Amino acid sequence: MDYKQLQIDNFFRYLAIPSQSNAKVQTLPSSKGQYDLALLLKKELEILGLSDILLQDNAILTARLKGNSNKKSIGFCAHLDTVDVGLSDVIKPQILKFTGEALCLNKEKNIMCDPKDHPELLKYINEEIIFSDGTSVLGADNKAAIATIMTLLHYLVNEKCEYGDIYVSFVPDEEIGLRGSKMLDLKYFNPDFAFTIDCCELGELVFETFNAGSAFIEIQGVSAHPMSAKGVLLNPTLIGVDIANCFDRLQTPENTENDEGYIWVQEFHSNQISANLLLNIRDHNKEKYEKKKAYIKEVVEFMQKRYERANISLKIEDVYSNLKDSMNDSNKMGLEILKQAFCECDIKAKSFPMRGGTDGSALALKGLFAPNFFTGAHNFHSAFEFLPLKSFYQSFEVAKSIIKIASKL
Ligand SMILES: [Zn+2]
Repeated sequence: MDYKQLQIDNFFRYLAIPSQSNAKVQTLPSSKGQYDLALLLKKELEILGLSDILLQDNAILTARLKGNSNKKSIGFCAHLDTVDVGLSDVIKPQILKFTGEALCLNKEKNIMCDPKDHPELLKYINEEIIFSDGTSVLGADNKAAIATIMTLLHYLVNEKCEYGDIYVSFVPDEEIGLRGSKMLDLKYFNPDFAFTIDCCELGELVFETFNAGSAFIEIQGVSAHPMSAKGVLLNPTLIGVDIANCFDRLQTPENTENDEGYIWVQEFHSNQISANLLLNIRDHNKEKYEKKKAYIKEVVEFMQKRYERANISLKIEDVYSNLKDSMNDSNKMGLEILKQAFCECDIKAKSFPMRGGTDGSALALKGLFAPNFFTGAHNFHSAFEFLPLKSFYQSFEVAKSIIKIASKL
């Protein structure tokens, strides 16, 4: 069996189902396409002979490949949605050989991908690379991962190798706030060692992410006609400005990098009667993250005292956790397995504290540690997203090695 070809065929088949998520709606899944894709995967899992296949109305699909030995169980998680950045939701993939010259992605629309604008291409001279036709994202984020996981299941079912139970989960709406993984019930996905496959170029290995939270501040003021406003009107907009001014201007997304956290005043809506602020709180360090939350509380309490006649309320929600904080004695082996798999495939691991979250960060909040490894693609969320075939195959090799290493534990 040509597993490389199977991996590509799987990828193209999943790309043929448009599955952009839609941030404007609150339903889960946020779009029908994600359910359609989950339905196709469900059928394929059935043909492969998996058990406990469960497709819920919210498009979360979980299943288990029964192990042929008593070895440790392994789980893989990937997301069903592709991002909506205003490009077409129809994806037309193509494989092109990159010679070092600019590539024509779309003759009719004259869309070129030039290494001058995308110098990361230069790492892949004389390689075959999958692109879209320049009118959409490629959707390697995250259908390359789904294709890799499905190819792995095919491999395990068909080849003679030893493995414990293999759990898979495909979740909707990662791109719009990890909504699917937040709803994933660990009753159906709780392997000894879990991994997500998402993001980025060959070698990327993420086991540190932000701790993330949202603070919702609502301010009720007192409105009055300006002709008789003196001593009566209490302007919620100005109270909101006072609150926003309490946060350090050097601890904002635009002024921080690496492992520095921030508070981002992301939204501010106001009128004569009320104002609403949405703050994003981010920090890799849990203690600093909690301090930021406590400071926001202090600010709100202070402003409430200062403006007695106003009504200021605060709600803080934890959105996801740093992967690393969910690591414990019983699961930290997962990271070792992953690092060893990289070694076996002769891939140098590139690790860094990610300034964002993965589906694993939502799982971390539930106590499941799931480090992430690469799909092999570049330029996410862009019409110039691309996936070098060699890197794509390497992602599959890492997944295979994980199973092999776990079978020896
Ligand atoms: Zn992704």
